[in-house]
Amino acid sequence: MTAEIIDGKAVAAGLREKIAGAVAALQEANSLTPGLAVVLVGDDPASHVYVRNKGIATKKAGMRSIEHRLPADAREEDVVALVRRLNADDAVDGILVQMPLPGQIDAHRVINEIDPDKDVDGLTETNAGRLLLGKKGLEPCTPQGSVILIKPVEKKLSGLNAVVVGRSILVGKPLSLLLLGENCTVTMAHSRTKDLADVCRSADILCAAVGKAELVRGDWVREGAIVIDVGINRVGDRLIGDVEYAAAAQRARAITPVPGGVGPMTIACLLKNTVLAAARRRGLSDPEI
Ligand code: NAD
Repeated sequence: MTAEIIDGKAVAAGLREKIAGAVAALQEANSLTPGLAVVLVGDDPASHVYVRNKGIATKKAGMRSIEHRLPADAREEDVVALVRRLNADDAVDGILVQMPLPGQIDAHRVINEIDPDKDVDGLTETNAGRLLLGKKGLEPCTPQGSVILIKPVEKKLSGLNAVVVGRSILVGKPLSLLLLGENCTVTMAHSRTKDLADVCRSADILCAAVGKAELVRGDWVREGAIVIDVGINRVGDRLIGDVEYAAAAQRARAITPVPGGVGPMTIACLLKNTVLAAARRRGLSDPEI
């Protein structure tokens, strides 16, 4: 079997188009232009690139992009004060604090200062709790994007065995909960899992979010499985995933490449969350996206 390559770039482009349509409809019907505020502290070069790309994508979707930059030696209280100002600003629908924050700042505290209804990264304790409880909230972007990529391959996930390798707060745990919400039978595997290869072989849907290049070997993939590779690892001048792609593609039914798989979905889902936040904060029904 040679796997279908799941084209994350194309799916993300389609999603961004729908988002732009929803933004236009909100403007037309409600004179509302959603606004996303991004807070960048310090001068991490990669963070600057991410923030710039988020700003470009936000504007392209017809929304307002607001950037706040603070110096690397900013105090925790300064960042908290800025988040509180953004919480109180009605023109701001989404707030994102770019990670990592400089060492003197407690990221957990800053994240939890964000109004949960503006928490477009879905990382506050409130949104994590809503996800756990199966209540409507803002879902973390990368896990949300991963599930969206599975849907065109397999509409009905109910009853399938899903294995998620990695249990981070950012990806593994929320992805497991989203798959549970789809009625998958979910196994959360991690660095202490025994017989990881056998656990992976039980998966109809195998998701890897570890951050170790090609940790998941091709022969750990069950024939006909769907493989979602969240990992992004720089090896020399190449980016490679957590899955041994070429060998896995011989066995899988469908697989995401790295780059061009899950990666492009993250920003698209951030934009989606911003539109949802804008509508929900005003008591409007969720736009069709
Ligand atoms: P993390 O370091 O926070 O978590 C890694 C997880 O992997 C941990 O739960 C750990 O238990 C598990 N793990 C470590 N070694 C293992 C092993 N040998 N066997 C099994 N499990 C093991 O990382 P993260 O933030 O979840 O990110 C994971 C990967 O996803 C990284 O490569 C990151 O760059 C990538 N990522 C991509 C996107 C995207 O937009 N595509 C977004 C976020 C993260």
